[in-house]
Amino acid sequence: MTVKNTPRALCYTRSMRYLGAVIRPPSEATSLILQVTYGCSNNTCEFCGTYLDKPFAVRPPDAVHEDVVGLPAGAKERVERVFLADGDALALSPRRLHEILDLLHAELPQLERVSSYANAKNLLAKEVDDLRALRARKLDLLYLGLESGDDQTLADINKGMTVAEQIEGCRRAKEAGIRLSVTAILGLAGAARSLEHGRATGEALSAIDPEYIGILTLMLVPGTAMHRKVATGQTVLPDQIGMLRELREIVAHTDVSDCLFRSNHASNYLPLGGHLPEDKGAMLATLDKVLQAPEAVQLRPETWRAL
Ligand code: SF4
Repeated sequence: MTVKNTPRALCYTRSMRYLGAVIRPPSEATSLILQVTYGCSNNTCEFCGTYLDKPFAVRPPDAVHEDVVGLPAGAKERVERVFLADGDALALSPRRLHEILDLLHAELPQLERVSSYANAKNLLAKEVDDLRALRARKLDLLYLGLESGDDQTLADINKGMTVAEQIEGCRRAKEAGIRLSVTAILGLAGAARSLEHGRATGEALSAIDPEYIGILTLMLVPGTAMHRKVATGQTVLPDQIGMLRELREIVAHTDVSDCLFRSNHASNYLPLGGHLPEDKGAMLATLDKVLQAPEAVQLRPETWRAL
């Protein structure tokens, strides 16, 4: 298994058993990572190599139970946050999710919040009341990869979901009181549709109105269809400045009510962030300054970028 741990998380992750590589959002660095499913039930996105070698499966309930109950007593006293892995624990039925959340409540006295990756298909398979019942059991935050607000781009990368489906899935989560952290990826549409992708992504983010927005920049993962398309010239990616132009288009078209916007991920050429709506003007001014004189700014070198 590979889980990147902070010292705090290490103390309670040591006794957990994991199958294959396990990823989590950077903001879950101090959370207990509990694997309740394996892989991703979608697993079609052409840029994503995370679960190429791990078919989707539900982790046997007995194994989940043993891991939670078997945590050392000192660790149980310290866990405040739990992240349900792998790629989309929300693929589980509401009944199974209730069992897991009830188990966590019974075993972890300091539990404050539970979070998970999610996708629109899994949200649309649940009614708002199902999601409300999960929220009542402290499922508080979902991380969703919108990737793009442009249907053509979503089709080209084989996302398997439309923009409208993603907006509706997010609407259900929000109506249930679950907070959303939504990501999109610069470069996914190639140079040809870069600005359309940027504009439509800003518009979709506005429609979703999440609490958190994260913008990443495409990293080509060997073995993925996207890697092959770029290697063979079928897709041409925007250059660094093109990526920043695309980011500007997203920011310019994002109108949200109360959101932390970040594009400071290790994959990005230029770290940028702020609170929207109030920092929108400053973020656009920063991007305009860089776009007007890119030679005056030290962008993150290609070799320093990482997933
Ligand atoms: S990007 Fe997300 S939904 Fe797509 S295959 Fe990877 S984990 Fe699954």
